[in-house]
Amino acid sequence: MSKKIMILPGDGIGPEIVEQAVAVLETVDKKFDLGLSFEQGLIGGAAIDAHGEPLTDAQLEAAGKCDAVLLGAVGGPKWDQLERHIRPEKGLLKIRSGLGLYANLRPAILYPQLAEASSLKPEVVSGLDILIVRELTGGIYFGEPRGIRTLENGEKQGFNTYVYSESEIERIARTAFEAARKRKGKLCSVDKANVLEVTVLWREVLDRLAPEYPDVELSHMYVDNAAMQLVRAPKQFDVVVTGNMFGDILSDAAAMLTGSIGMLPSASLNETGFGLYEPCHGSAPDIAGQGIANPLATILSAAMMLRYSLNLGEAADAIEAAVSKVLDQGLRTADIYTEGCKKVSTAE
Ligand code: ATP
Ligand code: MG
Repeated sequence: MSKKIMILPGDGIGPEIVEQAVAVLETVDKKFDLGLSFEQGLIGGAAIDAHGEPLTDAQLEAAGKCDAVLLGAVGGPKWDQLERHIRPEKGLLKIRSGLGLYANLRPAILYPQLAEASSLKPEVVSGLDILIVRELTGGIYFGEPRGIRTLENGEKQGFNTYVYSESEIERIARTAFEAARKRKGKLCSVDKANVLEVTVLWREVLDRLAPEYPDVELSHMYVDNAAMQLVRAPKQFDVVVTGNMFGDILSDAAAMLTGSIGMLPSASLNETGFGLYEPCHGSAPDIAGQGIANPLATILSAAMMLRYSLNLGEAADAIEAAVSKVLDQGLRTADIYTEGCKKVSTAE
């Protein structure tokens, strides 16, 4: 059966790295006879330049009709002066909420070949393999009311609202329990239940579901402690589940444990298993167009796509094995380069 993939290269290094990921997909397509087909689309600044908005309704609809989406990155200095509602990043928020992509999966794996590139000591991070499950369509990033208002005394006040309903918590919790079940069976839920009521409810829902997953060991941790533990002893974690904002912060921290943001893939899934796959890093305008960006995060995102949305695990394994082999051979883009290795370009 044929599977159609929407390709959204976006801005900055997006087109360069996506081109290489598509080349890899074409290779496994031929090798395993997967029947993949590709449709090119626009998001972010590229869409603003063409259509005056970061994601058109037609583009959103077209993406939803495909079997999965592979995205590069959006944004850059060219569009920084635009008004908030037509910034490139709005295209990302629109596609996430428009397709109901509430579960963001971010693995942080340290390849043994890159132990030296990590900011932590080898014994602290070697063999690191954790999965952060971040809620992506709710919480304080979306809660209403929000804004900046002027008080009676003339002083301005900024405000946002941190909300989660039981059903929103339950569906992300189930994604995390299921993921933990397929891994080492450990799930750590991160909240701030000592201060924030919304996360008291979060904790209650996790505890209520736990008996349905007797094979998963559930624990809870406050976010401040979790940030500390993540850099002190990250290997204590298997799967971490948390809300939108805490997940944003913790997953960037986890990324640094592995040496380079250029190595980390991500998946954003909805209830049906449909997903959008993209590297964790941004559009890196500082190195765009130079052919030096690391394409491995995007290539590994393509592997996640084959595994999670297209049910093509064998081809996904092949891509991941190929990445490992490239590292074995000492080939490195500049961001993960260490002495004695061979520096190569994005395309190489
Ligand atoms: P965003 O807000 O979209 O997350 P950002 O400015 O926070 O963007 P990135 O665009 O990810 O962050 O860039 C952060 C740094 O990491 C930059 O110096 C960039 O050059 C570098 N970087 C990001 N991705 C890659 C990559 N694939 N290869 C090499 N370097 C990268
Ligand atoms: Mg960032």
